[in-house]
Amino acid sequence: MAGGGKRGGNWKRNRKKHSKNAFPGKEMPKCPYCGQNVRDVLTAIAVESSDVPVHFDCVIKKIAETEELDAKDKICYLGKGSFGIVHFKNPSDPAKFTIKKRIQIEDEKKEISWRKASVKRVSFK
Ligand SMILES: [Zn+2]
Repeated sequence: MAGGGKRGGNWKRNRKKHSKNAFPGKEMPKCPYCGQNVRDVLTAIAVESSDVPVHFDCVIKKIAETEELDAKDKICYLGKGSFGIVHFKNPSDPAKFTIKKRIQIEDEKKEISWRKASVKRVSFK
């Protein structure tokens, strides 16, 4: 079965090639946390009730400010719009960790208009 019919792999490659994941609209949204333009829609996070894209890094920073972290704790993206405080028992062995707290940032059931539009655009050939 040559030809690589699997869409998943191709999608990832396309995403790299078309690195301009800018918003489809004319105006680039501004991150409410830092005030900078949100250029990369695919890594932006829709924070809770609002539909406003926030930088991935800004979300991490915000969590770091509000949560108490130990020296071996790290904030990681757990997927489906949730972040977690992950405790690494041994920094040299990243396989050994426990999730101390899960923080749901994005409503996973909510449709995020700007992301949808962008994904459509990216996969369009
Ligand atoms: Zn920001």
